[in-house]
Amino acid sequence: MVTVLDLNDRPRTRHPEKAHRPDQEVLRKPDWIRVKAPVSRGYQETREIVKSHKLVTVCEEAGCPNIGECWEKKHATFMIMGEICTRACAFCNVATGIPTPLDPNEPESVAKAVAQMGLTHVVITSVDRDDLADGGAQHFAEVIHAIRRLTPQTTIEILTPDFLRKEGALEIVVAARPDVFNHNLETVPSNYLTVRPGARYFHSIRLLQRVKELDPSIFTKSGIMVGLGEERNEVLQLMDDLRTANVDFMTIGQYLQPSKKHHPVKQFVTPDEFASYATVGKTKGFLLVASSPLTRSSHHAGDDFAKLRAAREARLAKSA
Ligand code: SF4
Repeated sequence: MVTVLDLNDRPRTRHPEKAHRPDQEVLRKPDWIRVKAPVSRGYQETREIVKSHKLVTVCEEAGCPNIGECWEKKHATFMIMGEICTRACAFCNVATGIPTPLDPNEPESVAKAVAQMGLTHVVITSVDRDDLADGGAQHFAEVIHAIRRLTPQTTIEILTPDFLRKEGALEIVVAARPDVFNHNLETVPSNYLTVRPGARYFHSIRLLQRVKELDPSIFTKSGIMVGLGEERNEVLQLMDDLRTANVDFMTIGQYLQPSKKHHPVKQFVTPDEFASYATVGKTKGFLLVASSPLTRSSHHAGDDFAKLRAAREARLAKSA
């Protein structure tokens, strides 16, 4: 059975900064956006492990439509450093406000959950922590080290904030040597003021470029949502910007509006258009492009990591 989820019917005010905004019509989803209901045994088991270790997942906090499918396979993306974000992006369902202090036991708890779930590849993301001097870089590094200690065979992908105005933060995270460093551009630059106002497009591009400069062995990855009012040409330009920064892997998915106070969906991009973006992206030199309506940064991340490795080896063999 397939159904469309609405996980956002929550009692507390998650977005006080959006409360004054006029309501935006929430468009009916097209037929091609269909997801699995979260009812399987695997889903329940994942839920219990997450709760027993008192962990937060972006799957729940962002109201991800893929949660039924991913959690059935025990694929959860852990969100570290609390559940309250210091930014207030217009698309995001993660709660905003004043965050709680860091939990010093969190690195160990995440590592234990990874071991219990038997993950071969794990994705760790976080809220934005502009309140911390290093933006949470050291905490990210400690989580990576804790996982390496407990399950050294697990490959680690991180999806980080932009560490804007946090001198030295990026270097701390890169030195911990994640296998994949992901930082999402989220949208084209012309949308930044309305969609991602606290961020700077070229800072994010430079952050990704710097990761490769510091450690070329780390795969770099970035993603955007479409349907936010962008033009096709702007997406193609953004691809070029990512390739200039030597980014290996790009993800493209449909933006879905979490509530009537969030940025409206301007367009439902068709599956054919997503396929076309994937084709163009490959011609621009990415090792991998995942592009479909339900593509999310961490969707199928383990399988994609295997494809990334294979693509890099094939390219190296070709140039030898
Ligand atoms: S796509 Fe990512 S965020 Fe969504 S449910 Fe799957 S692992 Fe969680």
